[in-house]
Amino acid sequence: MHCTDPKTLTARKTHHCMSCGELVKPGEKYTRWRCYDSGDVGTVKMHPECHAMHSAEAAGMGGGPWEFTPFSHERPARDCGEAGHDEGRCGNASCLKA
Ligand SMILES: [Zn+2]
Ligand SMILES: [Zn+2]
Repeated sequence: MHCTDPKTLTARKTHHCMSCGELVKPGEKYTRWRCYDSGDVGTVKMHPECHAMHSAEAAGMGGGPWEFTPFSHERPARDCGEAGHDEGRCGNASCLKA
């Protein structure tokens, strides 16, 4: 299986994230790439944070290609980009995990 490098795009219409199944609404960013597998071509679309979660998991297992079960993963908390976010100290209520 060969996959193209993921690109971050801005949605012009509604997409479904293939990781968590939630919507990517127009104007929101999403990550898209293509995979070629023995003649089949598939396009994968995900929230940037869902893609980051899978990449981080793959890196933790030594890197390389990774697979996922479509529409069955939980959407991770969005990274607001502010200082202290990773430690849970960014102070944004929407980042706090329930
Ligand atoms: Zn998602
Ligand atoms: Zn945050």
